[in-house]
Amino acid sequence: MKNLEDLRVELNKIDGKSYKLYKTLEGQYNFKNYILSIDHVQGDPFASPSRVRVIVKQNIAKIPLELFKTKEKNIALCDYLTREFYYNINKCGEKILGSGKSGLISISRCPQEILERTSVIVDEEKIEARFYIGFPARGRSILGRELEKILYNVLPSIVEKALLYKNINHKRLLETVNLVEDQEYIRNELDSRGLVAFIANGSILPRESGVSSRPLKNGKEFISPRELEVEFKTKNNGIIKGMGIKKGITLIVGGGYHGKSTLLRALELGIYNHIKGDGREFVITNRSALKVRAEDGRAITNTDISLFINNLPNGKDTIKFNTENASGSTSEAANIVEGIESKAEVILIDEDTSATNFMMRDDLMQKLVSKEKEPITPFIEIMKPLYTQKQISTILVVGSCGDFFDVADTVIQMDNYLVKDVTKIAKDLSSGAIIKRINDKNLKLSFDFKRRVKKGTIEYGPKGVKVKTIGLDTIVLNREEINLRAVEQIVDNEQLNAISTIMKWAEINLMDKNLTFEKMVDEVLLEIDRKGLVSLEKIKGGSGSLALPRKQEIMSAYNRYRKLKMQN
Ligand code: ADP
Ligand code: MG
Repeated sequence: MKNLEDLRVELNKIDGKSYKLYKTLEGQYNFKNYILSIDHVQGDPFASPSRVRVIVKQNIAKIPLELFKTKEKNIALCDYLTREFYYNINKCGEKILGSGKSGLISISRCPQEILERTSVIVDEEKIEARFYIGFPARGRSILGRELEKILYNVLPSIVEKALLYKNINHKRLLETVNLVEDQEYIRNELDSRGLVAFIANGSILPRESGVSSRPLKNGKEFISPRELEVEFKTKNNGIIKGMGIKKGITLIVGGGYHGKSTLLRALELGIYNHIKGDGREFVITNRSALKVRAEDGRAITNTDISLFINNLPNGKDTIKFNTENASGSTSEAANIVEGIESKAEVILIDEDTSATNFMMRDDLMQKLVSKEKEPITPFIEIMKPLYTQKQISTILVVGSCGDFFDVADTVIQMDNYLVKDVTKIAKDLSSGAIIKRINDKNLKLSFDFKRRVKKGTIEYGPKGVKVKTIGLDTIVLNREEINLRAVEQIVDNEQLNAISTIMKWAEINLMDKNLTFEKMVDEVLLEIDRKGLVSLEKIKGGSGSLALPRKQEIMSAYNRYRKLKMQN
């Protein structure tokens, strides 16, 4: 292997010459403490920055095995090291000259959530940090001296500070790993304790603003009502008490502006672990919980929404429902059915973002509009059978309609950001009218999902598939946009990078295996589990790290793809 002096010589040789010659630097160099691997050099100064890796052997990094023995701990450790690396980029940076993205070093920017990602990889042999450098240029010529500064001054001190155990804050790292271990423990325990979610006393749920997910300063701490309090005995953080949300149907009621949506939002993101100091460290939700909302305008392909919608005025088939432009109610129906197809065990709904006519119909309206004229069976009549027959729970925010009391198992009221258990009062007030309707209907639920994604859904051109992602809500596949604005549990753009790569990969490798949609996505996740998320990066090509999405989000992306071809 070449070493750091060889690299310096080469760098001097190409200094001032055509930018393209940077390509000659691709390869690996021994930098004493680590190996510098220049994997892919950008074609010009304005292209996405060059892909670089640093590989530190464990006999130098010396991260104790105890900190990454289990998968959860490993994810927590890698997340921590990514954040350290990110932080030190700014701290160790020097003024680098040049045009475009010259000198820019970048690694994944982690949100409040801790995700499995490809930015840092740790095993018993090594730590690998995977990041980007904008190779410096003036106009279109190489600024070798500037790259030299980065590779010989800046990078070594980042590596030194962020990746060597002796320089890392041992206490904070251990706390982080231990915290994730406890979060995972609680999430794993939920089911056997009859719960779908848990919110610890002392949690801070509100965020700083609509654009910042940091905790709101002076936010009122969450306190569980006595009746709903449960506790978990964690390994590292002792006994943690808080509110348990039981399986079944839970309503969150209360006046406007009293914190209902904030509570639900925290539950939506409780599928992820959160960093220390976030305020939601111990807001823990069932892994499969899915936020559902109305989403008019979305496309729907062969989804069976007949559970909710029948006898449409235009005679349209609702067993294999297709549309380019769904209404509020048909979109929400499809979102729930597709959620069930993706094996969601908990459905989260906020009336703020729901179609009212999909959610309920009161008695007066029921009397006025005869059953034959109304194509929608509202969700209020389905929730209960959904739980009693299929064990799918619902957590629903409703401030506006008492009809739901009939079907609720638990009713909690948000009052000035404080939670009260008002189940008994609500039950005493409930009229029984909805229960009567449900009993009259005597619905038998049966789900048999047969949809299969057809080969040819993603078109491969001579240059493969062109993939791009924008922010948290757009994937572009060959110029076709997938709008994920309504898929609200995506927290990182790199999850979209992964989803789009998965779609590309699955097209070639899984489409002729005759698997149902859900099994096909399971197969993808198994493959990732076997080979590591990083194996997807090779398929992705170009730049952009990856973070792991859930099955639910992968399926949501397919479902919103307007060129989706389904067979059933
Ligand atoms: P609702 O859905 O009941 O109308 P929201 O959840 O939208 O209410 O909350 C209204 C406002 O109160 C938001 O600006 C939110 O940030 C803030 N808020 C929510 N919970 C708390 C809390 N525990 N402490 C302080 N402010 C809060
Ligand atoms: Mg609200």
